[in-house]
Amino acid sequence: MSIAENIARVREQIASAAQRSGRNAHEVSLMAVTKTVSPERIREAYKAGARLFGENRVQEFAGKSAALSDLNGAEWHMIGHLQSNKARAAAELFHAADSVDSVRLQQRLNNAANDLGKKLPVLIEINIAGETAKSGVTPDSTELEQILQIAPSCEHIEICGLMSVPPYSEDPEASRPFFRQMRALCDRIAARNLPAITMETLSLGMSHDFEVAIEEGSTCVRIGTGIFGERPAPLTKGL
Ligand SMILES: *Cc1c(COP(=O)(O)O)cnc(C)c1O
Repeated sequence: MSIAENIARVREQIASAAQRSGRNAHEVSLMAVTKTVSPERIREAYKAGARLFGENRVQEFAGKSAALSDLNGAEWHMIGHLQSNKARAAAELFHAADSVDSVRLQQRLNNAANDLGKKLPVLIEINIAGETAKSGVTPDSTELEQILQIAPSCEHIEICGLMSVPPYSEDPEASRPFFRQMRALCDRIAARNLPAITMETLSLGMSHDFEVAIEEGSTCVRIGTGIFGERPAPLTKGL
C-alpha cells in the first residue's frame, strides 16, 4: 500500500469512527507522525494531503527540516519528550509543542518564544496511568496544577489542551478507560475557565487505537505506522 492509499484509508476510518459516535469527522484532525521517516516519504504524505505532522526528537527534525521547508502550510509539532535544555531549539523549529510536562519546560518555552517574537501553542502531556517510565504529568499532581496556575504569566505560549499516550496494549479496547479519563480531565479543566487556557485540543490515539480514541472524544489522532508502515526498532532512547 502506498502512503497515499494509507492516508485515504485512515481518513475513512476516522470518518466512520466519528459517525459511529455521533461526531463530525471535521472535529478530528489527522497528524502524520514522521519520526524515522525520510523527507522524500514525508513529501509523499504532503502530496496526499497531510498538513499536520508530528516529530519526536528535536535533533532528528533539525536534520530534516531544511529539506522540507518548501512544504507550504505544513504544521510541525514536537510530540516527544522534551528536555528543558532543548526548549529553545524546539521553539525555533516547531510550530507547536505537544509534550509540556513541567513548569520548568513551560517557562523555558515561554522565554524562547518571547525571544523569537512568536506565540507558541502547546499541549500538556498527561501520564494518565501514572506509569513510572513515561513522561507527562499525572492528573492529580501539583505539577499539573502549577502549570495551569502560571499560564497567565507565560504570555508567549498558549495552552490549547492535553495530550496522552496510554499504556500500550495490543487490544485497542484497553485504551478506552484511559481515553475516557482524559476526556473527563479535559472537561474538568475547561469548566474552571482558567485564564489563558483553552481546552480545544485533546490529542489521543495512535495507529492501533485511534478509532477508540475518536469514540471517546479525541480531536487529534497521531498516526505513524498506519501511514508509513513499521518503523525500524530504535537504537537509543530519550535523545
Ligand atoms: C510514535 C508516536 C506516535 C505514532 O505511533 P504509531 O503507533 O506508529 O501510530 C504517536 N504519538 C507519539 C507521542 C509517538 O511517539
